[in-house]
Amino acid sequence: MDEKTCPTCHGTGEIESPGGLFTTAVKSCPRCHGTGRIPAWEE
Ligand SMILES: [Zn+2]
Repeated sequence: MDEKTCPTCHGTGEIESPGGLFTTAVKSCPRCHGTGRIPAWEE
């Protein structure tokens, strides 16, 4: 199965979202579900 790097998290499988002034919440990428890879036919 062909896969490519997830463009949402750039292959890290995690995304950072501002949680407040001094905190940064890191959560699994909703697009690749933390794998960092998505099927090649997905945009
Ligand atoms: Zn991702």
